[in-house]
Amino acid sequence: MNAEQPGKHGPTGRQTQGPEAQPEPEAEEHSGPEPEEGSGPEPEEHSGPEPEERSGAEGERGFEGGEPEGTSTTAGRRTTVRRGTTRGQRSVAGRRTIVDEETAEELPLTREQRAARQPSPPAADRPTAPERPGPGQPQETPHPQERPARPRHPQEPRHRTEPQGPPHPTARRPVAAPSTVTYWMEHAWLETHAEPGVAVDVRDGRIAAVHRGVAVPPPGAEVLRGLTLPGLANAHSHAFHRALRGTVQVGAGTFWTWREIMYSVADRLTPDSYHRLARAVYAEMALAGITAVGEFHYLHHAPGGAPYADANAMGEALLDAAAQAGIRITLLDAAYLSSGFGEPPDQHQQRFSDGSAEAWAERVSLLKDRAHARIGAAVHSVRAVPAEHLGTVAAWARTRGAPLHVHVSEQTAENDACRAAHGRTPVRLLADHGVLGPGTTGVHLTHLTGEDIRLVGDSRTGTCMCPTTERDLADGIGPAAALQQAGSALSLGTDSHAVIDLLEEARALELNERLRTRRRGHWTAAALLRAATADGHAALGWPDSGAIEPGRRADFATVALDSVRTAGPAPRLAAEAAVFAGTTADVRHTVVAGRQVVRDGAHLLVPEVPNALGTAIEALNS
Ligand SMILES: [Zn+2]
Repeated sequence: MNAEQPGKHGPTGRQTQGPEAQPEPEAEEHSGPEPEEGSGPEPEEHSGPEPEERSGAEGERGFEGGEPEGTSTTAGRRTTVRRGTTRGQRSVAGRRTIVDEETAEELPLTREQRAARQPSPPAADRPTAPERPGPGQPQETPHPQERPARPRHPQEPRHRTEPQGPPHPTARRPVAAPSTVTYWMEHAWLETHAEPGVAVDVRDGRIAAVHRGVAVPPPGAEVLRGLTLPGLANAHSHAFHRALRGTVQVGAGTFWTWREIMYSVADRLTPDSYHRLARAVYAEMALAGITAVGEFHYLHHAPGGAPYADANAMGEALLDAAAQAGIRITLLDAAYLSSGFGEPPDQHQQRFSDGSAEAWAERVSLLKDRAHARIGAAVHSVRAVPAEHLGTVAAWARTRGAPLHVHVSEQTAENDACRAAHGRTPVRLLADHGVLGPGTTGVHLTHLTGEDIRLVGDSRTGTCMCPTTERDLADGIGPAAALQQAGSALSLGTDSHAVIDLLEEARALELNERLRTRRRGHWTAAALLRAATADGHAALGWPDSGAIEPGRRADFATVALDSVRTAGPAPRLAAEAAVFAGTTADVRHTVVAGRQVVRDGAHLLVPEVPNALGTAIEALNS
């Protein structure tokens, strides 16, 4: 986040493309009706790889997975330890041990196993994580490894070990990412305006050159008709919430009835079923022009809390799912340790908890960035992470330069409970424990005091708004304009996936503010697109995505300008047409790292996405 003072710069100023200054909100501003007592807070709201090289490995098209760290045999017994995975872990008196798969007997840790558990050396003595190649530098090329067949743990996720039988009858052969390709854009969004006739040369997944004034497609160019935007960034997602769509709209109910339904789905997910669901959800995102997702992940262990043999099996399922759907992912691994201020996790929440922030850090440290993925961190909320643990999570993210996200003040009851427990607001509590800062993004920030807004702005903490979820859950309308005025960059997320449509999220930001202030024109279409692209990608740790300019990652989303919704406005108003009238149905093409993932509204890697969604969700309900 840049340190410019709010209000100085024009449309190009990153954080200032917002509305004029807002009056100071009251001490405790509630935008929505008070949720009735006892309906209390604790919202559980409620993620091609640099496809330079494509590989055939079924489950891992083109993406590197964890290499086998080593197979060690102890006293004639076989155990397997893989980087980032330790098998048959079980916590004995809080101490995690290795369990022999056959006899489930606890085995002493071998040196390698102890070494594998050592948190990776601090940032100072290893290349700054992630080792992101700068613009124009060659990309890492993932090489799928032939995996040694190994005994499957009953809960062992299938999708990671062996190919899943013959490819799907209608499976389309993955389109290899051409090392060089030219895209011709009928209209290209160049940060401030829609430029007609632009040819973009892509080399190794990055934009090599942008040529304007190219009236007709050069020979051999891929043609993108409509308005081509930088790929859209979905900065906040809980993939499994997609299984709730429709189901949670029956009857009135409160946030709490919603949460009970959500728990019933969460209780049934396994690494395999979550992989299937997430792959379909991420494919739905690609169809919506989303090229990167911030997956706020807290479903870590088996129901009841027992770790899977692969302690990160659920996270790996999501990373693989994104790879197979062809989009980038930032896995924001959430620490979730308590049910309420001073209350232990309940039976639904036990699978979210690692027991302590140290155990959380130990597990997450086993996950590594990869070509299509960044590993980030999250504090689920001040309710779910006791104050004394907040610093550990924040320090983990800081030392790695990894994004840190946190749900904040989505419901007033959370504010009330926090004041009762700590005598201060959630934002103040987070500030006092070093959680706020340029690498942090607060999600929702719906009910804030004036001081909260100053703390967020002054610390350059980002703000991720999820308007369609916030209205679906009756949270209220957050002070987005005031936060941006205070210096907080805005991003957008579909969160509970009531719908997956970032154009809808973008215009909802403006339309909510119109309802709240009864005035129009708080954000330009350009400013709303910045929140849905560049600032969203930056909040997810992809600062070199989000613009159609040389050196940036070649991620694009093309919106039709001749659809029944977008037809009419002059080409110079293409952004206004797309943002204020376009929907997911108008997204024609999606390109990730130079490779086309969606063409003419069809996903090229995941066949029949509606069917894939239906099947995966049905399997959960059967
Ligand atoms: Zn959320």
